[in-house]
Amino acid sequence: MTMDFTRPDAAVLDELKSVLGPGGWKESADGARYFEDPRGRFEGKACLILLPESTRQVSEIVKICNAARVGIIPFSGGTGVVAGQLSPDNENAIILSLERMNKVRDVLIEDSAIVVEAGCILETIHAVAAEHDLTFPLSMASKGSCCIGGNMATNAGGIQVIRHGNARDLCLGIEAVLPDGSIHSELSPLWKNNTGYDLRHLLIGSEGTLGIITAATLILKPVDPETSTAFCGLPSPGAALAFYRALRKALGESISALELMSGFGVDLVVSHFPDLANPLEHSHDWYLLVEAGGSVGIHAALEAALNDCFEAGLLSDAVIAQSESQRQSLWDLREYTPDANRAGGAFCNSDTSVPISKIDMFICETVKRIAEIEPRLRINSYGHIGDGNIHHNVLPPEGMSKADLVKTHPGIIDEVRAAINVATRMFDGSISAEHGIGRLKTADLETFAPAEKLRTLRRIKHALDPNNIMNPGALVESRG
Ligand SMILES: Cc1cc2nc3c(=O)[nH]c(=O)nc-3n(C[C@H](O)[C@H](O)[C@H](O)COP(=O)(O)OP(=O)(O)OC[C@H]3O[C@@H](n4cnc5c(N)ncnc54)[C@H](O)[C@@H]3O)c2cc1C
Repeated sequence: MTMDFTRPDAAVLDELKSVLGPGGWKESADGARYFEDPRGRFEGKACLILLPESTRQVSEIVKICNAARVGIIPFSGGTGVVAGQLSPDNENAIILSLERMNKVRDVLIEDSAIVVEAGCILETIHAVAAEHDLTFPLSMASKGSCCIGGNMATNAGGIQVIRHGNARDLCLGIEAVLPDGSIHSELSPLWKNNTGYDLRHLLIGSEGTLGIITAATLILKPVDPETSTAFCGLPSPGAALAFYRALRKALGESISALELMSGFGVDLVVSHFPDLANPLEHSHDWYLLVEAGGSVGIHAALEAALNDCFEAGLLSDAVIAQSESQRQSLWDLREYTPDANRAGGAFCNSDTSVPISKIDMFICETVKRIAEIEPRLRINSYGHIGDGNIHHNVLPPEGMSKADLVKTHPGIIDEVRAAINVATRMFDGSISAEHGIGRLKTADLETFAPAEKLRTLRRIKHALDPNNIMNPGALVESRG
C-alpha cells in the first residue's frame, strides 16, 4: 500500500491552487468526505484536494504533478470498495476529485448515445436517459453516489451484466488526461474503430493508474416495454443454476438480472431493516431474484416459465411482482444486503468470479475452508450468478462484535481472505470480479496473477507513467 513519494513543497501546492483559483481546492482538514471508506476499514489522507472544472484544468494539474513528481489519486464518487481512491498510509499525494465536472455534454438520440463528464452520478445518467425514453443499463446499489468516471475506471459490473455487459461494454468513447498531461480524446460515438490499440479499453479498468478519465460516450438502449421480476426459493446454488438453465431456454437473452441470496443473508436484511419482509411463506436455504425485460408479453412468458419449472421439479416456491412497488420491495432485499452485512459486523467481503459451472462447488469449498478456521463464523454468500460473480461476506459468530473477534483471533481476517482466494484458484476463478484491485488487493494480485501478466501490466504502466504519479500504490507500480 505504501507510496514512496515525498510531500510536495509549498511552492508546488501554491502553483496547483493557482490553476484552479478560489473554490477550486480544499485543504485536507476540510476533506473528511474524501477519506471515508464505504466499508469503514481504511481512512484516507492527502495533502490537498483539487476540484477542477474542465479537462484543460485537469491537464494543467497533471503536467505540474508530473514535473514535480507528485502522486495523484483520482476520485469520483468515493464508493470504491478496494481502497483505490484512498491513501491510508501517508498524506503525500493530492486527491483530484471530478465532482465539478458533472455535465451531460450531449444526448445523441440518433446515435443512441450520451456524452457525459466523469463526475456525473450514475443515477443522474439514468434520469437523463429516461427523459428521452431510453435507458443506460449499468446499475448497482451504489448508483446514487458513484460516478461514471469511477465506473469506467473500475470497469464496474452490477446487476444487469448478463444482458448488457460490464461498464466497458457500454462505452463507445473516452476522453482522458494521460500522465504527461496530454489529452486523449476519442468521444465520437463509433461502434467500429480498428485503428490500432484500443486506448479506451486500456483506460477502462485501469483504476486511475494510466490516466484521469474526464468524459465518456455511453451507449443508450431502448426502454423495455415490459419488465417482470420474481423471487424464488431454492435448496442450493446448484438448484439455482439448474433453474437458470431452464429459464434461459424459455426466455433467452431477456433475462436481465439473476441475483442469488442466501437464506441467512435474507434473514439478516429483514432483521436489520424491519420494513422489509421475505415475501415467501416458507423460508428456504437460498433465494434467486430473477428479472426479465423485453417486449409486451414478457411478464406472461416469465410466469409460464416458472410454471414449467414447478412442473419439472426445478422450483417449489416463487412469487412474481404484480406492481412496481412489489418489484421494488423484492429488489430492496438485494440492495440492502451490503448495509445489512455492515450492520452485522462483516469483516471480510470477497468479490470472486468463477466459471458458472463451478459456482456450486466453489461455494461449498469456501464454506468448508472458512469453517475449518472458526466453525462459528457466519457466511453471507450472494451475487450476480448469471455471470459467475459471488460475494462472500463473513460475519463474526452470533453475539460477538467484529472488534472482539479480531482481539480474540488475531490474523483471522487474512486467514479468511486467503481461504477464499485459494478456493478461487482451485476453480479457475478471479480474485476480483468487478471491484478491481485498488490498494486492498495488490498483494493478492502478486500472489495469484500469472507472472507474465504482471510483467506486462508493469511494462504498460511504465510506458505511460514512468514517474509513477497516477494513483501510486494502487493496482501495479511502474517498473522499467
Ligand atoms: C453499496 C455498494 C454497492 C456496490 N455494488 C457494486 C456492484 O454491484 N458492482 C460493482 O462493480 N461495484 C459495486 N460497488 C463498488 C463501487 O460502487 C464501484 O467500484 C464504482 O464503479 C466506483 O465508482 P466511484 O465513482 O465511486 O469511484 P471512486 O470510488 O471514486 O474510485 C474508484 C477507483 O477509480 C479511480 N477513479 C475514480 N474516478 C476516476 C477517473 N475519473 N479517472 C480515473 N480513475 C478514476 C479511483 O482512483 C479508484 O481507484 C458497490 C459499492 C457500494 C458501496
